[in-house]
Amino acid sequence: MGRTAKPWFVLNAWKAIHALESNQVATNLSTIVNCDSLLSHSIAEIKQELISAIKDELIDEFDDGLLKINHTIVSSSHDWYCFVCFNPGERMIGCQSCFRLYHKTCFRYSEEEGKCYYCQVHPQEKIRGKLLDISTINDTLEILFHNLVANFQSLMDIASLKDESPVILKLLSKLLHNPHFDFLSLQNKINEQQYKSIADFIVDFKLIYFNVAILNGPGSIVVEKFDEMFKYILSQEKIITSCIQCYYNLYCKVDGEENFDWFLVPCNPPHRLCFAKIEEFCHPVKVIKSNINESFVWLFDENHEFITVNNESLIDSLPKEEIITPELSKALEAYEHLLSMGNESKERDFDNDNGEDFSEKCNQ
Ligand SMILES: [Zn+2]
Ligand SMILES: [Zn+2]
Ligand SMILES: [Zn+2]
Repeated sequence: MGRTAKPWFVLNAWKAIHALESNQVATNLSTIVNCDSLLSHSIAEIKQELISAIKDELIDEFDDGLLKINHTIVSSSHDWYCFVCFNPGERMIGCQSCFRLYHKTCFRYSEEEGKCYYCQVHPQEKIRGKLLDISTINDTLEILFHNLVANFQSLMDIASLKDESPVILKLLSKLLHNPHFDFLSLQNKINEQQYKSIADFIVDFKLIYFNVAILNGPGSIVVEKFDEMFKYILSQEKIITSCIQCYYNLYCKVDGEENFDWFLVPCNPPHRLCFAKIEEFCHPVKVIKSNINESFVWLFDENHEFITVNNESLIDSLPKEEIITPELSKALEAYEHLLSMGNESKERDFDNDNGEDFSEKCNQ
């Protein structure tokens, strides 16, 4: 199981051959090296990769040096490239339970027998003591998806491959087991409430990421941008899994308008309100989640940045010597306001409490 040619090279070589054939030009080494799709590859690399692509039976070479696309579609139970590093390899491990393929050194075990890290069952998340129900998970993912569209629309269009020619689109199933899984597929799954956990969504995103990396090469600009997108999703996941109610408050719109007061909506149970000493300044903060050593906090400043701080830097009152700058004064005002609404709970350990249902979800 496995291949030797780099798939993003094979795709570019197919495009070159297809372009030459469309113009009725002979397709041999000396003509394909000048095609636009192969300009980013050196001649030495093209020669080397062609040998591999011929060995992989993705390109055929004839006695007269003519190069042709091998159009035969062979069905496969697995992908042909490593799901983790995106590279080819000759002795690969195929997961027993899914379509993913790995190098031995890239394979990540899961706790479930016969399943890889990516196809294991991800349990429904429990956030602040409450198990999320399916509709809450999918409603939350709808907000996350909306945020992705707002920030990464052009990248999502690239992944949809809508500009590729039908000939090339048909060939993609020779490089990818799931060539047409794209953002529309994610959106449909959300609409049909198919996600049983936030983690499942992230695994599906990883599949789109994988497909894009296979077709563009792991070092490409598109993949660099996808990496940014992936980091964005993980930062959203961090907020979601810390307090889903804060996440709703942050992104829900009131009558179609941005909800500027979201930071002052108390959660149930309320968050600890205190001060964090960051460098030499004290900031009023909302503690979203804590473990033994660290806390994930939101600052009461205008931007409501979120950071992770050491628990030792959290104090319950503002030191007397603290200089009240105009910014701090504004943040303190918001802090006092939330405090006066009864959002105070200084002794609770949020990781272990049995939070109650939060009944009010924002109206989208
Ligand atoms: Zn690998
Ligand atoms: Zn698997
Ligand atoms: Zn909250």
